[in-house]
Amino acid sequence: MKVTEHIAAAQNKTLFSFELVPPQKGKNIQELYDNIDPLMEFNPPFIDVTTSREEFIYLEKDGLYDRKVTRTRPGTVGICAAIKHKYKVDTVPHVLCGGFTKEETEYMLVDCQYLGIQNVMALRGDAMKHQRYFEATNGGHTYAYELVGQIRDMCQGKYLHETLKVSNNDDFCIGVAGYPEKHLEAPSLEFDLKKLKQKVDAGADYIVTQMFFNNSKYFEFIEKAREAGITVPIIPGIKPIAVKKHLQLLPQVFKIDLPEDLITAVDACKDNKEVRQVGIEWCIAQSKELKDAGVPVLHYYSMGKSDNIKKIAEALF
Ligand SMILES: Cc1cc2nc3c(=O)[nH]c(=O)nc-3n(C[C@H](O)[C@H](O)[C@H](O)COP(=O)(O)OP(=O)(O)OC[C@H]3O[C@@H](n4cnc5c(N)ncnc54)[C@H](O)[C@@H]3O)c2cc1C
Repeated sequence: MKVTEHIAAAQNKTLFSFELVPPQKGKNIQELYDNIDPLMEFNPPFIDVTTSREEFIYLEKDGLYDRKVTRTRPGTVGICAAIKHKYKVDTVPHVLCGGFTKEETEYMLVDCQYLGIQNVMALRGDAMKHQRYFEATNGGHTYAYELVGQIRDMCQGKYLHETLKVSNNDDFCIGVAGYPEKHLEAPSLEFDLKKLKQKVDAGADYIVTQMFFNNSKYFEFIEKAREAGITVPIIPGIKPIAVKKHLQLLPQVFKIDLPEDLITAVDACKDNKEVRQVGIEWCIAQSKELKDAGVPVLHYYSMGKSDNIKKIAEALF
């Protein structure tokens, strides 16, 4: 089923879902299953699996360095198929502009169709580590709205280099990213919202937000998005703080604010076990308020660990 169909079928009941990161190349998928197993009792209708773009590595030979391209966490579509069939749950592979040509994207989407995967999350991806700004991959897209356009075209039979007859079953439900505190590169929230509207106009069916720790940011975002003419469901993405380093890391990487009360509570912790507990309690309080406000889904960034997400879900679902 499509994410939007799950939301409609829930009839205003808040659903539980989460995002997973594929294991590093060389690691076993069992580790992933061990973290999914404890969360299945909360009946997630869909599970997201992230995609990582390529990285450069430098291999030394006889004093010279040879640059190679590698992906440390490949396998998104394979993992989606494995989870879908093992747990009988819908999965949402993330599809990126960065690191992929349009042809590679088309082949990935064809794989999804053959595997019965009906949802995809369309994202631009970040710049590579050595780049100051995102640069489009040769033969790839520059912005997520163009990727949404490619997916929507393909659903209507307009493949990159040919037009083919397609069945309705090949239609994808497309999710895109939204930023309650604006995307880090956007000059203003208003600018970012216009670009978000462009993604919806290109064919996106729903939005999942970047993490936030202050619900008022989400509520204000919803208000402004609706004013901007965005009518699709906006799913809050939230993450429990898990280690003290997050106090520096999260604002630095995602350009998001942490509330003063949360900073004080985390700062007072003796070790990361205490931080994890503070993170759980904060996330439960956040989730309860969002659920009371009638959000369609509570979508958790699990980062591959489920113990804290399980405790949060137990308090809510
Ligand atoms: C829910 C969620 C899931 C994610 N999953 C992944 C993942 O699996 N893998 C990964 O690598 N990253 C992931 N990301 C991170 C995401 O790739 C980055 O935040 C990326 O920098 C922006 O992606 P986007 O799709 O929002 O880009 P876009 O919507 O293309 O926007 C990027 C920037 O360009 C601006 N912009 C957009 N359109 C235009 C235009 N037409 N003209 C001028 N400016 C424009 C926007 O305002 C914004 O500042 C995820 C983010 C979220 C919120």
